[in-house]
Amino acid sequence: MSDGPKAGAKWSKYAVEDGNLVRKAEFCPVCGPGVFLAYHADRKSCGRCGHTQFNE
Ligand SMILES: [Zn+2]
Repeated sequence: MSDGPKAGAKWSKYAVEDGNLVRKAEFCPVCGPGVFLAYHADRKSCGRCGHTQFNE
């Protein structure tokens, strides 16, 4: 069991804010699960297919 609760160890795709689990990474709706969207200041984009979602 080497996958213990090492808080703050390296990059995590999840964060806990105000007691809620917040996703920091989102899958590309075009490529499907396994391909994460890259986060920018005002948008998210897929580095594989180029799909872009603007933040609301
Ligand atoms: Zn994609």
